[in-house]
Amino acid sequence: LGGKVMVTGGAGYIGSHAVLALLDAGYDVVVLDNLITGFDWAVDARATLVEMAVEDPRVAAVLAEHRVRAIMHFAGSVVVPESVSDPLKYYRNNTAATRSLIESAVKAGVPHFIFSSTAATYGTPERVPVTETDPTVPINPYGMSKLMSEAMLRDVAAAHPINYAALRYFNVAGADQQGRSGQSTVGATHLIKIAVEAAIGKRAAVSVFGEDFDTRDGTGVRDYIHVSDLAEAHVAALGWLIEHPGESATLNAGYGRGFSVLEVLDAVDRVTNMRVERQMEGRRAGDPAELVANNAAILATLDWTPARADLDGIVRDALAWERKLAEMGR
Ligand code: UDP
Repeated sequence: LGGKVMVTGGAGYIGSHAVLALLDAGYDVVVLDNLITGFDWAVDARATLVEMAVEDPRVAAVLAEHRVRAIMHFAGSVVVPESVSDPLKYYRNNTAATRSLIESAVKAGVPHFIFSSTAATYGTPERVPVTETDPTVPINPYGMSKLMSEAMLRDVAAAHPINYAALRYFNVAGADQQGRSGQSTVGATHLIKIAVEAAIGKRAAVSVFGEDFDTRDGTGVRDYIHVSDLAEAHVAALGWLIEHPGESATLNAGYGRGFSVLEVLDAVDRVTNMRVERQMEGRRAGDPAELVANNAAILATLDWTPARADLDGIVRDALAWERKLAEMGR
């Protein structure tokens, strides 16, 4: 690569796993994180941590100082209900901050950009599995803030010598299998995180949001992807960008299969040999019945072989990290 990879949000959940995957693949890494939701202890010691916001005007100088040749941009706000109550926070932290970072990248001549996008760009898909060329009609400001960033990247890549990969994540879960990182967010809202918190007694029960969806057991179906497979997809995307100058790609990052809420909770029970308490509740606003990736494009494009799709394995890794967090007193 001839320089470093900058990972914004490298102290956060997915970013910290991308840092590990990059380092394991032999890349030099500089992390840019303002440590508002991330943790400095989540950043591997082999990486350089710069405590700075993505939109800081000094970022261009950091890019030059570290001879950054690629940016993986994970930093952002990710709580969907919060995006509804405070949309301007999302258009600032996601859309405007990304605009600033792209501008810094163009000014510094960074040739490659990898962007954390989301299946929320589809809104309620017309068909499942959903494909990259299907309509993107976000149903919340979070999804829109990411879709606007995708549009900026498309237009900038047409005008400047930079290519990009936008990965649309489905439901990310699990933790590094060597116990080096995991989902550490305080007050997380994601199902597998909540379920393993319940499994270790951090919470009494798991709410099941809706049991009358048009799915096999009435609960919502999602495409859960292991965070380490996702991190490796980013490294593969970087390799592809290096080998395909002038080309860019927008790719679903999922396995192409879904599990219901009850199937996830059954997996937790199998892994723990206990039973987590289910609390049946009404639907959450804006939850689609089923969200599953058509992943043909990412499999065909990238040199990436997902290896951790087994649901019990994902739950096992999430649980191991949850226990480690408890030992650390977090
Ligand atoms: N869910 C649930 N209880 C929870 C959290 C989530 O039943 O405490 C359901 C949610 O309605 C959806 C699925 O689990 O069907 C995944 O939700 P999550 O918040 O993890 O991710 P999302 O798909 O909303 O991004």
